[in-house]
Amino acid sequence: MINKVLVANRGEIAIRIMRACRESGIATVAVYSEADRDSIFVKYADEACSIGPAPARDSYLNIPGIIKAALNCGAQAIHPGYGFLAENSDFARACEEAGIIFIGPSSRVLELVGCKTAARTTAQEAGIEIVPGINECTEPDIIEQEAEKIGYPVIIKPCDGGGGIGMQVVKSRSELKRSLEMSSAIASRAFGRGKVYVEKYLEHPRHIEVQILADSCGNIIHLGERECSIQRMHNKLVEEAPSPVITPEIRQQMGRQAVDFARKVGYLGAGTVEFIYSGGRFYFIEMNARIQVEHTVTEMVTGIDIVKEQLRIAGGLPLSVSQQEVKLNGWSIECRINAEDPLNNFTPSPGRLSGYRSPGGIGIRVDSGVYNGFMISPYYHPMISKLVAWGRNREEVILRMRRALYEYIIVGVKTNIILHKAILENPRFVSGDLGTHFIGQESSLFDDMRRIEERDRAAVERLKETFKT
Ligand code: ADP
Repeated sequence: MINKVLVANRGEIAIRIMRACRESGIATVAVYSEADRDSIFVKYADEACSIGPAPARDSYLNIPGIIKAALNCGAQAIHPGYGFLAENSDFARACEEAGIIFIGPSSRVLELVGCKTAARTTAQEAGIEIVPGINECTEPDIIEQEAEKIGYPVIIKPCDGGGGIGMQVVKSRSELKRSLEMSSAIASRAFGRGKVYVEKYLEHPRHIEVQILADSCGNIIHLGERECSIQRMHNKLVEEAPSPVITPEIRQQMGRQAVDFARKVGYLGAGTVEFIYSGGRFYFIEMNARIQVEHTVTEMVTGIDIVKEQLRIAGGLPLSVSQQEVKLNGWSIECRINAEDPLNNFTPSPGRLSGYRSPGGIGIRVDSGVYNGFMISPYYHPMISKLVAWGRNREEVILRMRRALYEYIIVGVKTNIILHKAILENPRFVSGDLGTHFIGQESSLFDDMRRIEERDRAAVERLKETFKT
């Protein structure tokens, strides 16, 4: 039985986890960098412990500091959230050695799924189709041979990659050498290892992923899929559940494969098996061994609190639901609201929120760590919130999300709300014809943003006046 959890993260996800702890009767400990001293998650927690000076991006990567804080506070478990140390096998091992429960899979599993080529091999062994390519990080001439075999375009990927960092699309043989060098150099800088591999680049795929839950009693279930095809630079921007393209039969097949993969690796906790979907077929790309930013849309359509399930699993309890009890109800969309300027090459826009009012009303959920007067720090990703809507069907949830975007008031920093408005009004988006190149292909989005800005200007100004401090 866990009665105190240390949350090794910040912002909205720290609060998200603490909410689940509170509902589960579990006390919480926040750790924070001095740059985050005034954040809500620090005040929300039952106890808070500083782990680093400002500016302090690295505070949340301070493994000994975090372990020491957990031991000092008597926390039996650590929830890593997403990003930072969430998929770091050294951190999981340090927890294991200190006798602290790491809320996630074991360090061994993190190591396995963290290596994309090892994950590809395991997927193949489990009978899951993977994107054609090689399963080992190898020498440039072998990569070149493989690229010739599978045919251009190909994609070079860092073995230990994440966040789309270092991936290079190669259209022809003449570009290969340079792309290999670039990918490897970026990977070395970002992940400490420059190893890369190659796979076929599918030109107009959709990104579809399956949420799974695995407990220590041998139960593994899936909660259906999320479509995350609306991306910018391989980073997700709008997600939805279910996917407009997935039939019940394909859902069952994808779900079964995701569960098979989790069983094969000996998975424990909440995880996501990612696929790309192209030409009516789906291919495994990787597993994310953590809670994901977009878990919210799955929660909205299943009614299952994924973080509470993580806490149950970590405490050795069985899942609270069986596969038969998982029912999808309605439709949900999430928009990631960032402090950045979509009309100016998405330049981050840190600064003080001099006015803030988030949307409300039926079917709206806002996961956020900000408040009126909050300082969006330049040291971290400039996410302001996750705006999540639920509706009985896709048509209703789109209309509801448009309404919520209309009433979202943020003064003092630039935001990407205008881009979300343009996407949610885009006829192709509305028809459900999604793809990972949607943003690049829909060239009208930029004009649409300007037009929508003009159209909504008077109303936005009116509302901004009311909520300015
Ligand atoms: P990361 O772990 O760095 O996020 P992923 O392997 O999950 O990288 O891929 C991120 C995104 O890149 C996918 O959602 C998809 O849009 C694109 N992508 C990855 N592999 C391929 C591929 N083989 N063909 C086409 N697009 C791909």
